[in-house]
Amino acid sequence: MSNICSICLDEITSFNNIKKLSCNHVFHYNCFIKYVLNEKTLFINCPLCREKNVNIDRPFIKGKENILSICSSKLKINTCIGCNKNGNPCMNKAYVFNYGYCHVHNKNILRGKYHKIFYTYFEHLFTSAAYKKKVWKTKLYMLDMAKQLIIKHDIHKLEEILNIFNKYFEKFNYKTENTPDFFYKLHDIELPPKEWISYCNKKKILF
Ligand SMILES: [Zn+2]
Ligand SMILES: [Zn+2]
Ligand SMILES: [Zn+2]
Repeated sequence: MSNICSICLDEITSFNNIKKLSCNHVFHYNCFIKYVLNEKTLFINCPLCREKNVNIDRPFIKGKENILSICSSKLKINTCIGCNKNGNPCMNKAYVFNYGYCHVHNKNILRGKYHKIFYTYFEHLFTSAAYKKKVWKTKLYMLDMAKQLIIKHDIHKLEEILNIFNKYFEKFNYKTENTPDFFYKLHDIELPPKEWISYCNKKKILF
């Protein structure tokens, strides 16, 4: 296989971690996701032929691999950004969707049993017409909110997450108190680090 990914202009050297759009054009999966986050939908227009992609098949069978596939490839192997007691950098691996922290520095981790439901929510957020107009920063908050709600209430069904959001939006959508801070407070979950929000928002990535 000697294709060039026309998003990053690098060669596509393996069949792993690639994305074939419905037009049959092929890209690195990570490049595809970067495009998805930028366009705020999985139904992107192909960067080569502009045809609308309707192939939103899950890239992998395992929940963990699907979760990793939507994380920035450059960051997912990085070590924790925290420090240990004597001020030295923590050498633990950063946990997936944990703001760059390991499982010790931020204990509220998205365990393996929740990967499937979290990926399902990601798919929903990036395919549903209901969220089409939400800006990327809002979606970023919603992913983090969903993550924390999943952990807090041991959620395994998409409807359970959607019910929480629907109830909230019905009540507060056009009200002034409708801010991320208010949502977090109302549901008794912790705000994510500001640095994480601004970094992901600026670079259009997830980690
Ligand atoms: Zn690429
Ligand atoms: Zn195409
Ligand atoms: Zn750490």
